[in-house]
Amino acid sequence: MKIKIVGGGLAGVESAWYLANRGHQIDLYDMKPYAKTPAHHADTLGELVCSNSLKSDDLSTASGLLKAEMRMFGSIVLDVADETKVPAGGALSVSRQEFSDKIDSRIRNHPNINVVSQEIVDLDYTGYDYLIIATGPLTSSRLAEALTEYTGDALHFFDAAAPIVSAETIDMTRAFRQSRYDKGGADYINCPMEKDEYLAFYDELVKAEVSNLHEFEKREIFESCMPIEIMAKRGADTLRYGPLKPVGLTDPHTGRRPYAVVQLRQDDMSATMYNLVGFQTNLRWGEQKRVFSMIPGLQNAEFVKYGVMHRNTYVNAPTCLNSDFSLKRDDHIYIAGQLSGVEGYVESAMSGLVSAISIHLRNEGKQLNLPNTSIIGALTRYISYENEDFQPMNANFGILPELEEHIRDKSARKLAYSARAIRDMLEVVSYMED
Ligand SMILES: Cc1cc2nc3c(=O)[nH]c(=O)nc-3n(C[C@H](O)[C@H](O)[C@H](O)COP(=O)(O)OP(=O)(O)OC[C@H]3O[C@@H](n4cnc5c(N)ncnc54)[C@H](O)[C@@H]3O)c2cc1C
Repeated sequence: MKIKIVGGGLAGVESAWYLANRGHQIDLYDMKPYAKTPAHHADTLGELVCSNSLKSDDLSTASGLLKAEMRMFGSIVLDVADETKVPAGGALSVSRQEFSDKIDSRIRNHPNINVVSQEIVDLDYTGYDYLIIATGPLTSSRLAEALTEYTGDALHFFDAAAPIVSAETIDMTRAFRQSRYDKGGADYINCPMEKDEYLAFYDELVKAEVSNLHEFEKREIFESCMPIEIMAKRGADTLRYGPLKPVGLTDPHTGRRPYAVVQLRQDDMSATMYNLVGFQTNLRWGEQKRVFSMIPGLQNAEFVKYGVMHRNTYVNAPTCLNSDFSLKRDDHIYIAGQLSGVEGYVESAMSGLVSAISIHLRNEGKQLNLPNTSIIGALTRYISYENEDFQPMNANFGILPELEEHIRDKSARKLAYSARAIRDMLEVVSYMED
């Protein structure tokens, strides 16, 4: 088969490597070195645009499990990361330029891969069997225009996401379920605040530290959505008349309307995760943990995903992608990487890998069927399930189905998730090799 891959970032190189190693002919297009996105600086493929950390490599974390699963499929990103790693405790951090140099050299020297330095501006794949678009969160504007035309309203340019907490860590002796004015079912979890709790929270929120934005992001982001900390700075009562308004709600623990209420909305099909309604934020992650843990009911909450506000081009995956990252409109076109609605270096690489596996299996007359107990399977399912409030997602245990038996100890429970995932994934690997 002949496959055209656009974008030689973490996802694109992963797709190219997997398919080329199985005898397929690859043309890999990247606009480097002639044109670069505002975050890319190196001339080499597989560049890490910011941190040099690929997060935890420990199996008691979802990030560690994701890596273990990807290694089963021969991930080039993880193989090179292992070769270029620098000491960083339990995290897999790499020597940045060495990492990118090695990926670049392996890809360019592969006999089945032809690297072409060219900006691609449309979705044409005449002469190829498949097309993979993996141009990342800063996809060039001409290609983004073509994607917008192709996907309708499904392309987003900013990510302004509220934090998500694990449902089982919400303290329901403080929080309560109810919808405003009891409309619909008791769909929301409400975290009620007394006046002193609200004022203490407000004081910390307005002085909390925010993340540094890139210059290109500063210009664009705040036009799209106002962060909660900026809204709060307009006055002590602004939030109480905005996202924290208590109207239509009665706290069953006191029988009264609270002074203010933070509402949590279900975020996934299995109700294991809830997002904080109206809490789009640019606070540093540590500050989110510190300040949002002051909300009654969230004092011990586990933050499955922190809020982010950044430039991010991504498709509304549930409306336009299948779970193997192929487009519903034309399943010979795949969207991989951050552009597909996953978030993070390793998650982006994973979607390039899954796209490639799917293409290869289809050619062999087989079907890709990943266990939903694995992080890869759960993430691919998450992005392709109907979800009105779709936000890009990273690896976390919250998206996995519950274990058959409840394990109280948190670390033991996480290891049990990983053991189950690896067991189930090994079966898929042996099916693929048959
Ligand atoms: C500023 C910023 C910082 C980030 N920091 C982190 C972080 O610290 N940790 C983390 O886990 N994630 C981070 N991310 C999120 C994400 O994980 C990375 O962006 C990741 O690199 C995405 O991988 P990718 O393969 O999808 O895209 P990329 O790695 O961005 O690769 C896309 C490639 O496509 C090329 N390209 C773009 N348009 C075209 C075109 N039209 N034709 C040809 N080539 C094109 C680019 O030159 C680039 O080489 C960050 C994102 C941004 C925007």
